[in-house]
Amino acid sequence: MAYKTINPYTNELVKSYPDATSEQIEHALKTGNELYKKWRDEPVISRAATLHKIAELLRKNADELAKIATIDMGKLLSEAKGEVELCAIIADYYADNGPELLKPTPITSRNTGDAEILHQATGVLMMVEPWNFPYYQIMRVFAPNFMVGNPMILKHASNTPGSAAAFEKIVQEAGAPEGSLTNLFASYDQVSEIIADPRVQGVALTGSKRGGQSVAETAGRNLKKNSMELGGSDAFVVLSDADVDKAVDLAWRVRIYNAGQVCTSAKRFIVADNLYDEFLKKLKANFEKLVPGDPMDPKTTIAPMNSKRAKEKLQGQIDKAVAGGAKVYYGNQPINLPGQFIQPTILTDITSDNPEFYDEMFGPAAQVFKVDSDQAAIDLANDSELGLGGIVVSADPQHGKTIAEKIETGMVFVNSFLVSLPELPFGGVKGSGYGREMSQLGLTAFTNEKLVVTAQEPDWNNPAGGLAIFKK
Ligand code: NAP
Repeated sequence: MAYKTINPYTNELVKSYPDATSEQIEHALKTGNELYKKWRDEPVISRAATLHKIAELLRKNADELAKIATIDMGKLLSEAKGEVELCAIIADYYADNGPELLKPTPITSRNTGDAEILHQATGVLMMVEPWNFPYYQIMRVFAPNFMVGNPMILKHASNTPGSAAAFEKIVQEAGAPEGSLTNLFASYDQVSEIIADPRVQGVALTGSKRGGQSVAETAGRNLKKNSMELGGSDAFVVLSDADVDKAVDLAWRVRIYNAGQVCTSAKRFIVADNLYDEFLKKLKANFEKLVPGDPMDPKTTIAPMNSKRAKEKLQGQIDKAVAGGAKVYYGNQPINLPGQFIQPTILTDITSDNPEFYDEMFGPAAQVFKVDSDQAAIDLANDSELGLGGIVVSADPQHGKTIAEKIETGMVFVNSFLVSLPELPFGGVKGSGYGREMSQLGLTAFTNEKLVVTAQEPDWNNPAGGLAIFKK
């Protein structure tokens, strides 16, 4: 049984889940495909009430759902509750706006007749999701595609099966038809089989480069459209005109939230030389105040990492960075608690030949760099194999925006936490993947953008000949 909840604070095995069977897979594909055929004859708005009901049930069960996520992967209970609320916001948004956003888009086209693009469902989707936001990651794909009319099969991370089962249960309790979302405790090979099945028309993965490469390869081989939401090593650029207190107040939060396990966490702090020393001192002062402990306890402010494997990976990366010349400005000491803790750590003096320079550190470790100009900050921010998000801090928002425009990532926020909202597109470039989730772009990621032209009487003698139809 590969799917297990092991509480990362107590290290106890809470529950194991049975592997998916071939019968379950066939049932998911069959019910999903039948539902697709039924849904395509129904108006988009017919699904809105169920999605609102899902939002309502999420809010009603928020305490219980938050506990399940915290036991699965260790996040602070308060953060888990916030995640459930965000899921409800996303569901409500697509229920309210989906019908309008999915209306046909008319095209002004010379004089061929009436041309429009229909945004139609394509069929069953396979979604592969990670553990770090065990509900929100599902909802980013689920809510838009539920409105579109694409049924979904979920393969969640093997360490968050409790959250996967709880999400599926909410969908069922809201009265969504069978096949809307089927959670399967599937192996990698079973995921490949599902992707290859002709009833599946798209694949959405959020996860690591390793997982993304493998699933995208299978999707590519089977000519299935796919979106890849992969890792990030986001820059947090502090410009020379920034208010250092405001910058630090943002910096420690973005690095520590979710125990630093966020794809869009700022991971590389690129600070103007006039502010560098003060920034470091103040960042350290904030890290020192953090209290490790039981993530269920409201007094705890730094949670354990999600698993023993994740902790060992990050510790290995910190050790490698230090062996390669990085200096530990703060942290990197053992925490005397049973859970999978890493002490928040600040690393400096990381040069481009350091073995960790290009790696994503997926946990509470901040790399801080000093630069002597805006251009040096941009160059360093862009010297990355990844391109997910980023933050620019400046006293002058226009100055911040000018720099943000030059950063090669999918998202950049000026003077703000990198927030995720249903109306904003989420996704990256370079090694961070391709495609966007949420917003209009995510809503139509797996639609058939179908052109329908209702032509007027053609003029066969028009100058473009048979390649163009012109009205007489
Ligand atoms: P991961 O190992 O790639 O796992 C993500 C999901 O992919 C899990 O369900 C995993 O299943 C599955 N998976 C991995 N290899 C697979 C394969 N060959 N076939 C089928 N499924 C496969 O990712 P992770 O390391 O746990 O997650 C953290 C990474 O995700 C970080 O790099 C982070 O930055 C990134 N992330 C990106 C975003 C974004 O929106 N861009 C958001 C959150 C996280 P198992 O659990 O069974 O291995």
